[in-house]
Amino acid sequence: MSTPRPGTPGATRACPHCKATILESASVCPACRGHLRYDEASILRDKSKVVPLRIEGTLVPPAGDAFEYAMVLSIRNERGEEVNRQVIGVGALFDGEERSFTLQVEMTEASGAKARRKH
Ligand SMILES: [Zn+2]
Repeated sequence: MSTPRPGTPGATRACPHCKATILESASVCPACRGHLRYDEASILRDKSKVVPLRIEGTLVPPAGDAFEYAMVLSIRNERGEEVNRQVIGVGALFDGEERSFTLQVEMTEASGAKARRKH
């Protein structure tokens, strides 16, 4: 996995608030929701934001038993190769408890002269 150069689509930086790795172009950190940019270009880019994938589910353990869980995220490319795999959270569920899990993919149009396809 190559790291995109600064100023090109997919370039990343650390959020100044929570240190999560986020898109360099992000105007709002998707992790901590802290605001990062207020310039016109980022406001326009934000308007192009779509959520093409969102999955939610709630799990309840079978009565009487405790279960442990691990939420695992995997991202694969067009060849099926895993480019990212992370354990998002782990924990235990006891009788009467439940956990809801949400996966959301946000996409924004990469704009400007630097948005050309990389070679
Ligand atoms: Zn953040």
